[in-house]
Amino acid sequence: MNEKSIDKVIFCTKCVESNQRYMGSIQHLDTKDNFKQRTSLEDGVCGACKYFEEKKNINWQDREKELVEILDKHRKTDGSYDVLLPGSGGKDSIFLSHILKYKYKMNPLTITWAPHIYTDIGWHNFKAWQRMGFNNELHTPNPLIHKKLTKLAFTNLLHPFQPFVIGQTYLAPKLALEKKIDLIIYGDAYFEKGVGGNLYNISGHKNKALFYSNSEDLYFGGVHISELEKYDISKRDLFPYLPLKNKEDEINKLTVLNLPFYLNYNPQSNFYFASEHSEFKVNPYRSEGTYTKYSSLDDKLDNLHFYTWFIKTGRGRATEDAALEVRNKIITREEAIALVKKYDGEFPKRYFKEILDYLQISEDEFVKTIDSFRPDYLWKKNKDGWKLKQAVWIK
Ligand SMILES: [Zn+2]
Repeated sequence: MNEKSIDKVIFCTKCVESNQRYMGSIQHLDTKDNFKQRTSLEDGVCGACKYFEEKKNINWQDREKELVEILDKHRKTDGSYDVLLPGSGGKDSIFLSHILKYKYKMNPLTITWAPHIYTDIGWHNFKAWQRMGFNNELHTPNPLIHKKLTKLAFTNLLHPFQPFVIGQTYLAPKLALEKKIDLIIYGDAYFEKGVGGNLYNISGHKNKALFYSNSEDLYFGGVHISELEKYDISKRDLFPYLPLKNKEDEINKLTVLNLPFYLNYNPQSNFYFASEHSEFKVNPYRSEGTYTKYSSLDDKLDNLHFYTWFIKTGRGRATEDAALEVRNKIITREEAIALVKKYDGEFPKRYFKEILDYLQISEDEFVKTIDSFRPDYLWKKNKDGWKLKQAVWIK
């Protein structure tokens, strides 16, 4: 998709998703220019809605059989771990780990890349997850370095979560090789949100090329690796954020699965599962920027993350939540449009002081940075402030 076609926002005719959703993999998020890779809306329908159509024809019994065959191949009898399960302790990780251990009788090791700042509910849910009977390794990156990288990613890319995404992506393959576990399973039902773009990318196996790179030309927070010393970040500090180098052979021996390809579940069903089987709690209040209470609860920077989406693409957390509920027939498209109009892009005020403190910037600098990322084709400023020019609720 070229730059010009991005300027015209197209909304899916079935849900409220638009063609503005980024499609880049983490390597593509290195510079501003690479944000240009967007989802396509062939025939006016988004990839996630097409997947929901396709889902009706899937034979789930066959898919589960296929899964069990793979699990049997990797099952160990010496008591050691046979599967690595990355997760945060939210509803998706609870479902994933519970079913692998208690239904399929695997011996999982769960692993977690720590959030920037745990919320109370996030920490509660993380501990509740372990109390369901799981071993967990929590990797907490050096907070001094993680803060610096997050600030660079915020200032240069308006993508404060980039270092988190990078670190989290590489943690699983690194630990799998180190601990000699040759199976990794991811539980996030991302097909349903349109991540991965279109049906052609949907597969039971994750693209392992994401895990390694032999390039020296890496960027972090929009800064080339050779320039990071200026910010007092050494190569040694970067170790958790580096892709695996010269490890293609070892990586290619790993089996890396997407569980939603094999089992029929979705974020709503995971929420009910988690509520029934664990001490999982939702917030007593709705999350900022949306009307829901049950997803992405663990990090005080989550609300900022979704707010930056909204600034850059005009689609925020309510768009994502409402689109998914339309696909699951929980709400209608008309209801979704009203919810998007009401909640999308709400300012992240709940933890705003902590966000400023974490990023070590003034409120003024924060606002200036945000405003510098508003694309002209999406935003106009009038006497009441910034307004979207194109939105699903604007006729
Ligand atoms: Zn759609």
